[in-house]
Amino acid sequence: MGRLKTMVNTVLDKAILTKNDLVTLLNAEGTEALLLRQRAEQLKMQNVGNKVYFRGLIEYSNICAKNCYYCGLRCANTAVVRYQMRDEEVLDAVRYAYNERYASLVIQSGEISTPAFVDKITALLLQIGEITNHSMGITLSLGEQSKETLQQWRNAGATRYLLRIETSNPDLYCKIHPNNALHDFENRVKTLQWLRETDYQTGSGVMVGLPFQTIEDLANDLLFFKNHDIDMIGMGPYIEHSQTPLYQYRDMLMPLLWRFEKTLNMIAALRVLMPDINIAASTAMQAIDPAGREKAIIAGANVIMPNLTPQKYRGEYLLYENKPCIDEEADQCKRCLERRILMIGHQIGYGETGDSKHYVPEVSSALIQV
Ligand code: SF4
Repeated sequence: MGRLKTMVNTVLDKAILTKNDLVTLLNAEGTEALLLRQRAEQLKMQNVGNKVYFRGLIEYSNICAKNCYYCGLRCANTAVVRYQMRDEEVLDAVRYAYNERYASLVIQSGEISTPAFVDKITALLLQIGEITNHSMGITLSLGEQSKETLQQWRNAGATRYLLRIETSNPDLYCKIHPNNALHDFENRVKTLQWLRETDYQTGSGVMVGLPFQTIEDLANDLLFFKNHDIDMIGMGPYIEHSQTPLYQYRDMLMPLLWRFEKTLNMIAALRVLMPDINIAASTAMQAIDPAGREKAIIAGANVIMPNLTPQKYRGEYLLYENKPCIDEEADQCKRCLERRILMIGHQIGYGETGDSKHYVPEVSSALIQV
C-alpha cells in the first residue's frame, strides 16, 4: 500500500522547509501529528541515535537582576526566599554526577553580572575541572554576560551555553519583558553571536503558548534557530506563574494541553529541520503530563536534565508554578528518569558527553577557511 498522501507527508517530502511548511507541521493534529512525530523519531535515530544523554542540573542561585514578566524568579517578586548554593554543595552535586557517570552538568542561575559572581563561577569551573579530570561537558545557563566574561568562563572549562531567546519576535519580546536596556532583544541576539565567537556549543530555546504568540511566531522561532546555527535547544510550554505580571493575561491563553501538544510538534518539526542538533525534553513538559518528558523524547528530543539541586532549595527555584520533582533528591530523580527512559526503548548515554553533532569548533572552521 502506498504512503498516505497527507498535508504533513507532502511537507515532509520537501528538501527545504519554508515558514508556511513549518506552520503546516505545527498545526498538525491526530494522525497528521503522529506522522510528523514518527518522522522526527526516525530522523533522530538516523542522525543522533537512540541514546538519551543526562545533564545533571544544578540550580545554583535564584538571585536575579532581571524582571522578566513571565518568571517567578524576577527580582520584583518579594515572595521568593533567595539563595545561592555554597561551594561545597555545588561540588558535592558535581561529585555525585561524576560518580554516576552523567558526563555532563548544567549550572543554571538567575542573571547576575557582578565581578564577584563572575569570579565565583570561574573558580567553581576550575574546581569542577580538577574533580572530574576535565572529562565532563559543562553547560552554563547564566543569562546575558559580556563577551569577556563568556570567554573567561570558556577558558575555565565551560563547553556549552544555554541562552533562551524565549521568542524570536522582537515585538512579542517587548510585551513579555520590561522595556529597558537590561531586557533588550538585540543584546540577547548579540550574546548568542558572542557564544559562537567564543566557541561554545550554543543553546537557545523558546516558550510555547505565550499570550499574544501566534503559530507564525513559532514557525519563525524554528527558522531563527536554523539561521543562527544553534547546536542545542530547550523548548517548553509556557506555564503561568501567579506572582508575575503576565498572569493578568491568563484568560487569553490556550489550554495547557494545547500548549503541550504544540511543544511536541515544535520538537518534532525542529528535529526535521535540524536533524543533528541536541534537543532537551524539558521538565515543564512533565508539569502538564506525567509522561511529558518521555513523549518529548519519542517526538525527537535526546537530552534530559536530572535535577541535582539539594532538595531544600528546589521549592525556591520556580520559574513557573506546579514544577514537578521539587520534593526529590538527586538519587530519586535519577532512578525515576532511568526507568522512564528504558520503558520507552531508549538507552542512556552513561559516560558519554553526548556533545551536539551539529557543533563545529571555531578553530576547525578557521582552518577550513584558510
Ligand atoms: S527568566 Fe531568567 S533572567 Fe528573567 S527573571 Fe527569570 S531568572 Fe531572571
